[in-house]
Order: sequence, then structure tokens, then C-alpha cells
Amino acid sequence: MDGKIARSAFSEWGMENTPVVRKCIPLTGPQKAFIVPGSCFECYTKPQGEERLKTCGGCHLVQFCSKDCQKKNWSTHKYFCRAAKAQSEPGRDIYSTANKKIEKGKKWFNIVKETSQLLQGILGFKFEHIDGILLSAPRVCNFCWNSESSTLKLCEDCCAVYYCSGAHFEADAAVHKSLCRSLKLMVKCDELLATKGYPDLLSMPFPSKSVTKYEKLPKGILDLINIPSNPIDAISSDWLSYPLSILYALEKIGLGIDSSPVHEAKKLTIHMMDCANELHIFHNSLIWEYLFHRLPNLKSLRVVMIDPELFHELGYTDSNHFQMSLCEDCEQRGRKLAVSVEENLRIYKWSDRYVRPDVILTHGIKNQTTGNMFIHTAEPSIPMVMMNVIRECIETDLQFLSMHEDIKLKLPIQVNPFCGQRPIRSCIYTSQYTTSSSCSYVDPKTSFVYGNGYICAMQRDIKAGYHRIRMTPNK
Ligand SMILES: [Zn+2]
Ligand SMILES: [Zn+2]
Ligand SMILES: [Zn+2]
Ligand SMILES: [Zn+2]
Ligand SMILES: [Zn+2]
Repeated sequence: MDGKIARSAFSEWGMENTPVVRKCIPLTGPQKAFIVPGSCFECYTKPQGEERLKTCGGCHLVQFCSKDCQKKNWSTHKYFCRAAKAQSEPGRDIYSTANKKIEKGKKWFNIVKETSQLLQGILGFKFEHIDGILLSAPRVCNFCWNSESSTLKLCEDCCAVYYCSGAHFEADAAVHKSLCRSLKLMVKCDELLATKGYPDLLSMPFPSKSVTKYEKLPKGILDLINIPSNPIDAISSDWLSYPLSILYALEKIGLGIDSSPVHEAKKLTIHMMDCANELHIFHNSLIWEYLFHRLPNLKSLRVVMIDPELFHELGYTDSNHFQMSLCEDCEQRGRKLAVSVEENLRIYKWSDRYVRPDVILTHGIKNQTTGNMFIHTAEPSIPMVMMNVIRECIETDLQFLSMHEDIKLKLPIQVNPFCGQRPIRSCIYTSQYTTSSSCSYVDPKTSFVYGNGYICAMQRDIKAGYHRIRMTPNK
């Protein structure tokens, strides 16, 4: 492995001068990106006793506990609210006629999708994430899709879906029964993230023992963690899914041109592309330390996150990297973990900071620019692992990539046995403004999805001449 990394020594990377940071930099504060049914859209308070939430007079889709909360929320809600109001009958919500349009809810999914595209078309820009969720999870009866009913009541068990009557609750029971438990966990997780923010990773049940002899991964993530029943376990499984999925893919396909076994690697460099939504991963070394704990030979691990959005979100003006502290055992073994953020793959590629990756990880080729960037910079021997919450996104991206390059699929698209176990509310918020579908995730049957739910791994085909890549970087 050693010879294959251009800048192999850790010290050459300038890391010895970098302050060692705390094991995990906590993500502070609540995340305003969730809907907790039956609670205020702004402060998540639930009405007590005789109290009732007030419905937004504009869009009729959200509820508030008070005028104050509505005011506070207005700056972010107003664009969506006005657009939705303009498309609704006076005094009603945008879905009020939906139940008349559809037969027995068969095309509910399409109505949400059309509505989402219509509103974004009117606005002329892409929704905020929360607006996509609003449309995907409105207050409608889960059986007849009626949104006008004043008798809508939440399922008392999951508090995730509404019914207009006891009869409709009964009528849907057979379908809902199989989903109620997961939906309940989903709402609990959303509520925790919305009101308290991400839990401190150090308090999470991460497997933390280092092995002395390599053990192959078990069949799936549920062999390593208990079936999550509380939100902290579930959120933790989302994070654990990253190192485990990388390991899973690398166990199958090996490293480098000669597909050498991953457990023999002493150094490992991972490039993560387009991971702006994965800020929590950047902040938490425990996630990556888990790779050390499973790979006894591993001495040095670098994670380079390449994403302009992430770069700017963190307020960086120059390339930044952190050396992260590890557990006592890892420190004694002289292990080193470094995480850095880069704005642009092409600039990074030609900089002296560049460290050749052993594996590239991505959630998808968001747009053509990113796709081209990958095509022009990835060397044929470097495997790329692609994970996404829905299969179709991976399929679309693979199609795009193979139009431009010879792609060899080393690990076919499959359900990821090491996906996260937190049910994530599925959502539509992509429109014509992005080329690929990778921003929208929806399962019309369950209304939730799992993080990193699908996985595949590919390489650029070695037969595709290297010169093709070399020709293009200055363009
Ligand atoms: Zn409130
Ligand atoms: Zn509104
Ligand atoms: Zn109903
Ligand atoms: Zn339920
Ligand atoms: Zn450790």
C-alpha cells in the first residue's frame, strides 16, 4: 500500500504543526429542518389540554402555537407560503382538492411531485429542505387524503400520520400497522434533532474496542448494534453507517489496481465528494476512528472532504485541516487521523496539498460540473463508492457517468446492509433546477427512507486511456 500514496508520510502533509482538536466538535443547537406533527412549526411546543394550534392563514399547511412563533418563522416561510397560497382556493390549502383528483390515493405521490414542481417553477428557485418536507408530509388523512377535515387526528401510537375518522383509521390499519413502529421512531428522532440538536457523539453507543486480529464484517449493521429503539441509537447508526459501508465496499473490491485486501492497508486516504449535508461527519472523529478499531494494521487515516458548499458553510478562506485526537489505545499505537476540507477538486488536485485517495465516497453526481470533475480527476485504479437513500438516484448518476467514461461496476447497486437505521422522512424537493434526482428522496410506499440505503462501487475502466484525463484539467 505504502508506495501508492503520493505523499505518504504524515509529517510531509504538515500535520505535525496542526493542533490536535477535541474528539468531536459538537454541532450546536437544534436543527430547524424537521416537522413534528401536532406541534408548533417554529418552537415544537405541543398544545396542552384545551389549547389548540393555529393554522397559517396563508398556506394552511403549517401550525403555530402563537402569533409570536408565526412572526419569528415568517422570514423563512414567506416565499413558500405565498406561492402555495396563490395556487390554492381561497381559505384552503394546496391539497384541498387533491382527494377529489385521485382515486383511492393511488397517485398521491405524483400529486406531491407535481405540486412541488409547480411551486418551485413559480418561485424560480429551489425549495428549502423544510418546504419539500412540508409538501411531502402534509396534514391529510392517511387514507382518504382529505386535508379539509376539522376532525383530523394523529395516530396515537406513532404521532406521524393523520386520520379524519375512526373508520378511516380502521380501514388503513392493515397497511399502517407494518409502518407504525418505524414512523414512531422517525418522529422521535426528528423531535430530538429539532428541539435539542445532534446528541454528543461521545455519549453514543459506538463500538469502541480495537481488535488485534482482523475480523471480517458481519452480515449487516444490526449484528453490531442493537435494533435501535431509542432515537440516540438510531442517529448513531446513521453515523456508524459511513465507516462500515466504506469497509463493506472495500472488503468486496479491494484497494488499488491489484485489489489488495483492505485489512492490510497501513495508510488510507478517503475523499468525500459533495457532502455538504454531512457536516456532522466532518465534526466527529469517532466516526472515522471506528475504521482504526476494525483495521488492526491501519496507522494513518486521512479524510478529505471536497465540497464548495461545505467549505463556505464552515467559513473557510483557505484549505483547513484538523488532526483529531483518538482513544488512548489508538494514541499508544501511534495512529493519526486527519480531516480536511477542500473547496474544489480540480484546484486541490493540482495543489501541493493533494493526497491521492485510496477510495472516493460520494452520495451522487449532483450536477454535470461535479460529474465532469470526477471523470477528469479520478484515476482508473481508484474505486468510487456511491451511496444514496434511493436506488434511482444511483442509477441516474451511473447512467450519466457511463455516457462520458468507461465505468466498471465492481459492486452492483444493492440494498446497503450497513445503512443507517434512523427512518428519515422522505421528501421531494427537486425540480427542473437540478439535472439529477439526487436531491429528492422519496419512498411512496413507506414515506420514509434510510440513510445510505443503497450502495454500489465502481472504477473507471483501466482500458480507458489515462491520456484522456490528462488532456482536460485546464479546460
Ligand atoms: Zn411556537
Ligand atoms: Zn403559511
Ligand atoms: Zn379520511
Ligand atoms: Zn401509527
Ligand atoms: Zn481508538
